[in-house]
Amino acid sequence: MAMKYLSTRSKDYECPSAEAIKTGLAPDGGLFVPDSFPKLTEEEIAALASESYNMRAFNILRRFLNDFTDEEIMSCISAAYNKQKFETESITPVYKLNNQVYFLELWHGCTCAFKDIALQILPHLLTRSLKKTGDDRTAVILVATSGDTGKAALEGFKDVEGTKIAVFYPESGVSDIQRAQMVTQEGKNVGVSGIFGNFDDAQTGVKMIFTDKEYVKLLDEKGYMLSSANSINWGRLVPQIVYYFSAYCDLLKNEEIAPGEPVNFVVPTGNFGDILAGYYAKLMGLPVNKLICASNKNNVLTDFINTGVYDRNRSFYTTSSPSMDILISSNLERFLHEITGKDFARVKGWMETLSATGKYEVPDITKTKIKEVLWGGFASEEDTLLSIKDTFEAYGYIMDTHTAVGKNVYDHYLFETGDTTKTVILSTASPFKFNRSVLGALRGEQNLSGDEYTLLETLSKLTGLKVPHSLSQLKAKPVRFSKTLEKGEMKDYVSSLLDI
Ligand SMILES: *Cc1c(COP(=O)(O)O)cnc(C)c1O
Repeated sequence: MAMKYLSTRSKDYECPSAEAIKTGLAPDGGLFVPDSFPKLTEEEIAALASESYNMRAFNILRRFLNDFTDEEIMSCISAAYNKQKFETESITPVYKLNNQVYFLELWHGCTCAFKDIALQILPHLLTRSLKKTGDDRTAVILVATSGDTGKAALEGFKDVEGTKIAVFYPESGVSDIQRAQMVTQEGKNVGVSGIFGNFDDAQTGVKMIFTDKEYVKLLDEKGYMLSSANSINWGRLVPQIVYYFSAYCDLLKNEEIAPGEPVNFVVPTGNFGDILAGYYAKLMGLPVNKLICASNKNNVLTDFINTGVYDRNRSFYTTSSPSMDILISSNLERFLHEITGKDFARVKGWMETLSATGKYEVPDITKTKIKEVLWGGFASEEDTLLSIKDTFEAYGYIMDTHTAVGKNVYDHYLFETGDTTKTVILSTASPFKFNRSVLGALRGEQNLSGDEYTLLETLSKLTGLKVPHSLSQLKAKPVRFSKTLEKGEMKDYVSSLLDI
């Protein structure tokens, strides 16, 4: 029987996974969630330990996407996770720091950040979903990006049949490396443009296109369907469950843990997608003790976990871990749905209060349940940079700024709880991607000289690590996209990309 997907906000709507992936958001504004979670036994998990990443992925994904055939799922997996797209055969290798702490390196994909894991497979799941629902339109992906997502989406959708993608970045809001990554993007179906203004301007411009009914109708007549690649899509979330199982299997295989032994996961968190996937893995039977939710100075989640009050009415900080600079963590809604035992009305109420007032509070019983699963902490800018330096000096292991937030929060956790459970810290970006901050942490910002490309070499020499191929190639690549547009010109840009 096909697994059903429900909205977090009402019981009235259910659909198979293909429909959930195609539409992204439920008609009532809620997020799609599976109506139940498949369970794996200890034996089934142990059996996955001797399998490849792709077979582990197949085993997990087919339980959720059971309106797809096995061949369809396998072909999506093979198109996403292969030698052309990832620098390591194990896709998400585990690095042992000491007898208690491990890093799950999620950044060996082509854009050097963990978003590759989901965005490499999403285009294939999306195009299959369109076909399955009898829709022969071309999917047009529009993305406003502050850096990481745009490039990962471009690489994922590049030359995927049945898709086109346009990415807009704030002209003055991305790093030199991030800009270079985007303006040199290859592929026949891609478009990239800078936008005068900040991230919000780019985001507003994209929203204006999505809500322009006449334009959406025109696109439909021409055979196009607008879609976004953001992290609330079920097709982006479900692939992330896999690497929690994969990390656990690697620990089993290397005899670091015994079958059934619980482990902690520490997750550098922004939109709450990554850590939610860890919670789903736990619901599926993976022995997870605590999920440690690590925030940067934008610590709205730390406060929520500790007090039960979610309050976005606070200052927004720009930090050295920009992918976690978020005040509204959209995927938290899915977590609340499960933790309240699918209380649709309550969750809907909280989300409506959040959009009206920027704030809501959950009752004590919910607070207690949240704390059974999550431990929340945050790291200041200073502590984050210190963690990079200390960990490098003690172990010779170099972390990027996002991962360092995780490590720092884990150190707080250890100090407060004394918990000796083995712990996996999710490492979400390559240190080379945030080379300026990382080198600044090691040597002092004032002692850095040269452009971003020089800094890549400096970091490589200092750590003995090779610069990832995709970054070392950048400087020599021709610029394909040099336009910067006003917000109001974005629609025309999309039209020209689609030849309409
Ligand atoms: C997106 C991102 C995060 C945050 O992940 P969420 O799923 O949004 O919580 C953390 N680190 C890096 C490097 C990212 O790109």
